[in-house]
Amino acid sequence: MRDETDVVVIGAGIVGLSTAYALSRQHPGIRVTVLEKEQGPARHQTGRNSGVIHSGVYYRPGSLKARYATRGAAEMVRFCAEHGIPHEVTGKLIVATGREELPRLHALVQRGRENGIPVRELGPSQIPAYEPEARGLAAIHVATTGICDYGTVARVLAESSKADIRYGAEADLISRRLGRGVAVRAKDGTVVRGRVLVNCAGLQCDRVARLAGDDPKMRIVPFRGEYYELARPELVRGLVYPVPDPAFPFLGVHLTRGVDGGVHVGPNAVLAGARE
Ligand SMILES: Cc1cc2nc3c(=O)[nH]c(=O)nc-3n(C[C@H](O)[C@H](O)[C@H](O)COP(=O)(O)OP(=O)(O)OC[C@H]3O[C@@H](n4cnc5c(N)ncnc54)[C@H](O)[C@@H]3O)c2cc1C
Repeated sequence: MRDETDVVVIGAGIVGLSTAYALSRQHPGIRVTVLEKEQGPARHQTGRNSGVIHSGVYYRPGSLKARYATRGAAEMVRFCAEHGIPHEVTGKLIVATGREELPRLHALVQRGRENGIPVRELGPSQIPAYEPEARGLAAIHVATTGICDYGTVARVLAESSKADIRYGAEADLISRRLGRGVAVRAKDGTVVRGRVLVNCAGLQCDRVARLAGDDPKMRIVPFRGEYYELARPELVRGLVYPVPDPAFPFLGVHLTRGVDGGVHVGPNAVLAGARE
């Protein structure tokens, strides 16, 4: 079976689905085909994360990440409201518990303000006004952070996109057709030909890049994040984070109130034997 399309997207996580959604809205009439190896959307990172709508407070002012995160946070809240997806702008606390963290906390205040994010500095006695059970030497309150359920967001993106989304379709061969785009074969033998390929394969994106004949010059090393569920969720009102340690590429173990009212504690980072 062969199909012609304009854009082939590999991966139906939030990146692939929002790419398909945006393309079909901005270019009416464009044909977008999404190939997803699982039987539904958001079966990997997107449906298994902390559910936080990040404000962009951490990112270097003016950087693509900072602009993308600040705009994206506002758009995500709007998208959830428009589509009746459970969400809440809870705000978040970043709490310093050691003296060595204070300069880094202060730097975050500067960054947040330069990124146009409402950030309030708190002394130890002001922390309980936001989180009665939290203690620290200092904290900042970031007003625009929120929570949502990204599994539902992905499902709604899939349903409202005009794209042809094919589940159970694992791309296993990609060939470039000189000047004529790409041909992607799924494991079941289906071939989709498109003018453009967008690789949104999440933790498999380096492998997909190699399938397409590119050398991404990096390899994904999988870590697994584990969470505990707080037995007494009433102890936490919203989101409580540590000051990130620049030695690690993670935000640190945080307390996150989900849209279901439960509170997760995590993630840690465990070197994993497999990507999925
Ligand atoms: C523990 C943890 C907590 C996080 N918490 C947050 C948070 O609170 N807030 C936040 O904004 N971000 C958070 N993130 C990050 C966020 O979840 C990811 O950045 C985001 O989900 C990535 O989306 P994606 O579409 O790139 O990847 P994925 O969701 O992994 O989707 C990739 C898709 O590609 C498919 N695929 C792969 N190979 C192929 C192939 N060959 N053919 C067809 N399909 C293929 C996969 O099956 C998968 O469905 C967290 C991440 C982790 C790991």
